[in-house]
Amino acid sequence: MSQAASQSFVASRLAAFGTTIFTEMTLLAQKHGAVNLAQGFPDFDGPEFVKDAAVRAIAAGESQYARMFGIPALNRAIADAWSRRTGESIDPDTQVTVTSGCTEAIAAALLGLINPGDEVVLFEPYYDSYRACVEMAGGVARFVTLVPAGDPDAGFAFDPEQLRRAFTPRTRALLLNSPHNPTGKVFTRPELAMIAELCVRRGAIAITDEVYERLTFELARPHISLGTLPGMAERTVTLSSLGKTFSLTGWKVGWAVATPALSKAVRAAHQFLTFATCTPMQHAAAAAIMHGEEYVQQLVEQYRSSRDFLSGVLRGIGFKVYPCEGTYFIMADHAAFGMGDDVSFCRRLTAEVGVAAIPPSVFYDNPDNGRRLARFAFCKRRETLEKAAERLANLRG
Ligand code: GLN
Repeated sequence: MSQAASQSFVASRLAAFGTTIFTEMTLLAQKHGAVNLAQGFPDFDGPEFVKDAAVRAIAAGESQYARMFGIPALNRAIADAWSRRTGESIDPDTQVTVTSGCTEAIAAALLGLINPGDEVVLFEPYYDSYRACVEMAGGVARFVTLVPAGDPDAGFAFDPEQLRRAFTPRTRALLLNSPHNPTGKVFTRPELAMIAELCVRRGAIAITDEVYERLTFELARPHISLGTLPGMAERTVTLSSLGKTFSLTGWKVGWAVATPALSKAVRAAHQFLTFATCTPMQHAAAAAIMHGEEYVQQLVEQYRSSRDFLSGVLRGIGFKVYPCEGTYFIMADHAAFGMGDDVSFCRRLTAEVGVAAIPPSVFYDNPDNGRRLARFAFCKRRETLEKAAERLANLRG
């Protein structure tokens, strides 16, 4: 191979991140014919009425650039849904920005708000794009660790002292994901109050990734938006998307809700990242949000039952299983099987047992914190989960 063919062309700010673990594990699952409980995407289709709305929009010629910050019908649908949920009304044209998935919204928020050298507080394990986007923006990530309790039923929690120490005079923003991928944790009101108090006192902006907002399973753990806490409306950028709520993860329609001033910063980056989001899909997204309540409620019932099924299977085999209060992921401790760290466990599970899972150590600043864990996705048909259960039974003993 010539030198040019073997050299890496990846810019230094991205070289450390390699290929995402989701791509890597899905390719490995395909290679071994494994049941893919790694990358989080449904193996069933989204609602027919939403697909019909997309087809109708294409047939009607809705195919030129959309308004930079979203088509009026979708901005309105998002604003209406926001006020139904929070009781606060917002202006669809100055406070809602439609993006190409929440991943783009995260990039736009960080690139639009973070100056070089600014610090951003992240809870780890974190969704991998957060850290990469902080670095692309020239920011510096500071970490607060969600630690699994000794008693697995108690789930994951952070040390308030570590959170306080993560804030410094250089802190520009905190990025919160609740319901939380990959732990399945839904942050409680007292936890959110602690976070809000620090943001207000230290003058930090909060960016919240709430893509699993509708996928919560416990009455006692409802999803609460950080932006609805006292003093937070003027400093919070709330992000969400269509994909998880409507089982349409490939459609890539997301949004940011924030004050006009914060929205202006998000748009400053969004207009140069994608300019606008796919027009016909925005029409379909508006239909989903306006008429999708029945679908969402049925989906939550299905996922609650899938969660209970897969948790039971994993526990029965000998995993220590952490509670999933929201999202469609289960975190489990695999140490009882003596198959090495999370990376080797997940590789062997995929190749030898035929079930793929995500090794979470890549989501930590210190990978050692994730070595005992594996993340399983349950956003799959029951027959898929049953096939995984049959194969996982081979792990026992
Ligand atoms: N959010 C999904 C997950 O956590 C998939 C993300 C991706 O493939 N980039 O599995």
